[in-house]
Amino acid sequence: MIWRDILGFLFPSECLICRQALQLGEHHLCFICLGRLPRTFFWSWPQHPIQRPLNDSLPVAGVHSWLFFSEHNTVRPLVHHIKYQGGAVLARYLASQAALEMGSGLFGCSPIFIPVPLHPVKLRQRGYNQSFCLAQGLQQIWGGAIEHEALRRLRHTKTQTGMNKEARKQNLAKAMAWNEIGESVEGASAIVLVDDVLTTGATLAACWEVVPESLRAKVHVWTLAAAFGS
Ligand SMILES: [Zn+2]
Repeated sequence: MIWRDILGFLFPSECLICRQALQLGEHHLCFICLGRLPRTFFWSWPQHPIQRPLNDSLPVAGVHSWLFFSEHNTVRPLVHHIKYQGGAVLARYLASQAALEMGSGLFGCSPIFIPVPLHPVKLRQRGYNQSFCLAQGLQQIWGGAIEHEALRRLRHTKTQTGMNKEARKQNLAKAMAWNEIGESVEGASAIVLVDDVLTTGATLAACWEVVPESLRAKVHVWTLAAAFGS
C-alpha cells in the first residue's frame, strides 16, 4: 500500500470522473468523486423499491445494490471502464469500498460468492470476468469463498443493451447451468450471486433458476449498481 502511494506520488494518475490528479491515498477516484457516487442506501432494507418489482422473477432473500446506475450519471463510465477497459483492479476496489460501507452483517460469517459467468468465448476476448473481480473485492472485506465454477454459461448470448425485459428473458432462456460445487455450499451462511449492473434482472433470474431448490432460501443478489425504474 505504501509503495502504491509512493508510485502514485511520483506518477500521479487521474480521477476517472473529474480528471483531477489523484492525491496520496486515492485510487482510481478522488475522495470527492468517490463520496459523491449515488448510493442507493437500500442494501439492508427488506423489500425495498429495487427488489419489490423483481419478486416474481427473482424471489431471492435480498437484493443489495450499492449505487444507482443511469445513462447520465457518474456510475456509467465506471461500469464501462470495468467491462471494456481492463478495469479488473477498479472492479475489486469499488466492490471492497461497497462492502466496507454496506457493513459486516449483511451475509453472515461464511458467505459464498458466485459471480455471474461469462461465456468462455467472451471471457477469452475480455481476459477477465468483471463479476469475478467484484466478488474478489467483496471477499477481501467479508471473507467467505468464491465459487466461480458453480454457474456455467452454456450459450454465447447476444448483448442485451437496448432489449426490453421479455426480449432479455428469451435471449437468456437455458443459457445457464449449475455445477455441483461440493459440501461447502450447504454450510454457507448465504449464497450471493454477484453481477455488475442490475437492469431488468433477467440475467440474475436465469442464474437463480438453475440453483438447486435446497439452496434457494439463502440466495441473495449483490450488484455494484442498479438501474432504478427501468
Ligand atoms: Zn474526481
